[in-house]
Amino acid sequence: MQDLVVARPQCLYCPPGDFYIDPWRPVDRAVITHAHADHARAGHRHVLATAVSEGVLRSRLGAALPLQGLAYGEAVVHNGVRISLHPAGHVLGSAQVRLEHAGRVWVASGDYYLSAHDERNPTCTPFEPVRCDCFITESTFGLPIYRWAPQAQVFGEIDAWWRANAAAGRPSLLLAYSFGKAQRLLAGVDAGIGPIVVHGAVAPLNAAYRDSGVPLPAAHTLGDLPDKRLLAGALVVAPPSVHASAWARRLGDFSDGFASGWMALRGARRRQGVDRGFVLSDHADWPGLQRAIAATGAERVIVTHGQEAVMVRWLREQGLQADSFRTEYGVEGGDDATVAVPAAAS
Ligand SMILES: [Zn+2]
Ligand SMILES: [Zn+2]
Repeated sequence: MQDLVVARPQCLYCPPGDFYIDPWRPVDRAVITHAHADHARAGHRHVLATAVSEGVLRSRLGAALPLQGLAYGEAVVHNGVRISLHPAGHVLGSAQVRLEHAGRVWVASGDYYLSAHDERNPTCTPFEPVRCDCFITESTFGLPIYRWAPQAQVFGEIDAWWRANAAAGRPSLLLAYSFGKAQRLLAGVDAGIGPIVVHGAVAPLNAAYRDSGVPLPAAHTLGDLPDKRLLAGALVVAPPSVHASAWARRLGDFSDGFASGWMALRGARRRQGVDRGFVLSDHADWPGLQRAIAATGAERVIVTHGQEAVMVRWLREQGLQADSFRTEYGVEGGDDATVAVPAAAS
């Protein structure tokens, strides 16, 4: 029987339905799992995505995006394939794609988050396992060395760093991807420590989150800060691209930190040239990937973007049928893609 999803140059393709999932080249019909740049590209003639991701998708890909928004669990049938979107717990609106055709069910995960500690990302709907025959899983952090600490511990480290900097009269510049990670940080820090300032790239995404009912603490931009002296005790959240830029120099004497799953790698903080590294990811860690895969009940697993070889070997050892797709996810412009690690591009 023909596979429900195959790898094509444009990306993952569903032959019976004649549509693509997260294509990186313009296509007629695309299903987009979430609005990170390595998954959501412009130029498609028709896009299916979650309704809750609409604000972010339009702000990134243009207001004229030909988007059909679905509620989680709502289904549409296209060329005989029943398509529905289910929470992935990664960022606002992120979804797994469930495809049902001729009695078979396949699920393409997109990016997803769950951890060994059964924690959730408070800024989006938590990952929901979907039973299927074949599960196409991401594996960004698919190595046994990746095990996330409890979130409370990570936020305790960030708060302590901010508090110490504030006591010394120094701004805390926290570098984080502007969609997803920045909002998760804002939702998790102790906003009572001092004022919060966000970069202009972060502010519109905060607005999209608030419009979707996700509460975030009040934040200024550098431009609307009523008194520049407030900066001394502020947490400043900005994308990694501002590192060592003219924008960063406007902060004066500051301490900087970087929040990413890649900070778990030895030497990553030093290579990024920042004072502190905080290990916080919106992707599943190794135990999270294993739990997610087991919960689907799938007998066949196809591994994408990340540590395909190690994950495929582990899955085969579990008696599953396992293979990998080569994709361009995580290569550029995506979340957690800011630190180049050779294996991430495969
Ligand atoms: Zn992503
Ligand atoms: Zn990705």
